[in-house]
Amino acid sequence: MGQDSIPPAPGYRTYGGYLREKFGGHRVFKVIVDAGFTCPNRDGKKGYGGCTYCNVDSFTPALPRSLDAIRAQIEQGIVRARENYDAEKFIIYFQPNTNTYAPLATLRALFDEALSICPEDVVGLAVGTRPDCLDPEKIALLESYTRHLAVDLEMGMESIYDETLSQLNRGCTHQDLVTVLDQLAHSPLNLCVHTVFGFPGETREMMLAYAAEINRFPQIAFVKLHHLHIVAGSIMAVQYQRQPFPLFSLDEYTDFLCAFLPLLRPDIVIQRLFGISDWDLLIAPNWGLKKVRIQTHITREIARRGIIQGSAQSCSIKREGKMNKTTDSPG
Ligand code: SF4
Repeated sequence: MGQDSIPPAPGYRTYGGYLREKFGGHRVFKVIVDAGFTCPNRDGKKGYGGCTYCNVDSFTPALPRSLDAIRAQIEQGIVRARENYDAEKFIIYFQPNTNTYAPLATLRALFDEALSICPEDVVGLAVGTRPDCLDPEKIALLESYTRHLAVDLEMGMESIYDETLSQLNRGCTHQDLVTVLDQLAHSPLNLCVHTVFGFPGETREMMLAYAAEINRFPQIAFVKLHHLHIVAGSIMAVQYQRQPFPLFSLDEYTDFLCAFLPLLRPDIVIQRLFGISDWDLLIAPNWGLKKVRIQTHITREIARRGIIQGSAQSCSIKREGKMNKTTDSPG
């Protein structure tokens, strides 16, 4: 099972269940690679300072790691996963920052090197990026690996409202994501989108409307859901400390998920239900529980209420408030 996996819980499609089904019951583990990518929202191409919720301290230098360093990370990650988790198969996960923000040749060299390690036990490649850092050549490169691997492409949706994205200094619009999703309508890549709930100015109704927006795209296979949490080193941390704003309590967030999940298409695998950060970086909300206890709290409540993913699904939920008209492309 991967790090995000949980005991099977009734009511929604878990990532652990997906991995077991997909990979014949093998214990599959994600090995995270930090390839030293930078981000166009920090280096000035799109903006400076980054998204307001992003932790500057976690930002790696704008120097790609050497291929030897990539190899060492993966080899050590595989050894650790075997020893600590009895992992049998591996997904190589390019996670930090924007992992398609480099010339095509650099990307090809990095991915080829990563996938040349332990090929008999590597079953997948996962790449996290921004929707505005993809082009047809990079998409074709990623798709070329699907001939022998499961390839997941993760993109930040964060909010579906451009006014929110602008306040967050995201440096891209919801339409940027929609454009890429449309380009990937028939792609063999497994698409995953990240969302964050609880941005200032978004009502519960507006956040519930994310489900209908995600549902419009059958090519979306996975979601990672997060509650907004404030981390040290972010611009939002300064804003919050100057003028605190409401954040989800654990019970409020659980209640929100219990309303959200019935609206979400039932085939979508939920890789993550809540946000996590290192304890030493977390400013708020501090729910006082470790990850596994939070997971248990939420999944128990989902089960207790008899929540079923997709049971109230409707694509006709009105997107209200700050929705930018440009997002209303036909679905
Ligand atoms: S959240 Fe991602 S896109 Fe935004 S500044 Fe941080 S690394 Fe860049």
